[in-house]
Amino acid sequence: MLMHAPQALYIHIPFCTNKCYYCDFNSYLVKGQPVDQYLAALEKEMEQTAAVLPPEVIHTVFVGGGTPTVLTPPQMERFLAMVKRYFPLDEQAEFSMEANPGTTDLEKLKVMYEGGVNRLSFGVQSFDNGLLERIGRIHNVDDVYQSIANARSVGFHNISIDLMFGLPGQTVEKLDESVSRALELALPHYSLYGLKVEENTLFHHLYERNELPLPHEDDELAMYMLLIERLKAAGYKHYEISNFAKAGHESRHNTVYWHNEPYYGLGAGAHGYAKGERHINIKGVQPYIEAAQLRLPRLETNQVTEAEAIEDFMMVGLRMLDGVRNADFAAQFDGRQIEDYFAEVLQKLLAEGLLERIGDERSAAVGYKLTARGVPLGNEVFGAFLTV
Ligand code: SF4
Repeated sequence: MLMHAPQALYIHIPFCTNKCYYCDFNSYLVKGQPVDQYLAALEKEMEQTAAVLPPEVIHTVFVGGGTPTVLTPPQMERFLAMVKRYFPLDEQAEFSMEANPGTTDLEKLKVMYEGGVNRLSFGVQSFDNGLLERIGRIHNVDDVYQSIANARSVGFHNISIDLMFGLPGQTVEKLDESVSRALELALPHYSLYGLKVEENTLFHHLYERNELPLPHEDDELAMYMLLIERLKAAGYKHYEISNFAKAGHESRHNTVYWHNEPYYGLGAGAHGYAKGERHINIKGVQPYIEAAQLRLPRLETNQVTEAEAIEDFMMVGLRMLDGVRNADFAAQFDGRQIEDYFAEVLQKLLAEGLLERIGDERSAAVGYKLTARGVPLGNEVFGAFLTV
């Protein structure tokens, strides 16, 4: 297992202007929340983290939520300054922040840009106002165009948007239109997620009452295949199950997760992975604030066994369409090979045409990756590695 200090940093801002109907993320309505106290608690956590596990150099930062862009410009400035105070960023570091259209005016974007953020990930979800309303988003399509124009005007070029498919009432044709409008923006990166109905959401409640008209699963598959086809035809590399990029614009931060490498995780409900341990922070805002005054605000910390780390390596690594390589496996697990653990599973998945070998058929495999047939069946493939 990799035991060096993490070179990636995730920070969670758990506030949103509203709660989307499908969302089970750790997020709370910002109105009336003690945002300044939360930032003070975050600073405490940064200070304690830097003392316990001193960062050497940070190559990627990702600020997620929630909606980090609900911070006011002064709060944003304060927040970005503290990140740099405790975490030495590499000059070329990728610094991403999630942003919601409608929460990013010019003034805030300038503060973000000047504070070091150099990549934006906009939660757009759809270019259909009716669908946006139906899933509880507060923005409309005009807000999307305005936010992206604002971002570009202050200097952001590395911009990604999220789109969703499998939404209630969505058709393949409607999705096709959204994709056309998304591609007209000529952004370097797109993330495309299928709706999952999670417990404790309004959508789950409606689903239980049979009041959520989800597309048929054949249509959902057709949507995913359409997305792949449209994005590839427009020159984007399908580099991860849900992500497409122009060359050189792959998310470096998320690639850390997919390579099963360590990362700092700070903020309410954040997960982190370092020195063979995974932790989850306390989720509630007030309990997090109180705990951070006294100690690292952990909800739980677990030692990752080697068997778990090996499973994780395969399950997250195969999400990358370039696949997993024996050389990387050997670097994390004392020179061993993937086949030492998974000979039988690999054989089965190869025979089913869901995986293919990377490298020459006649010599030892360099690694393994999903086949075109395996991509839409990814979850089945990843699950097969849980058998150790
Ligand atoms: S904006 Fe994002 S985090 Fe906030 S409620 Fe909607 S989906 Fe959840």
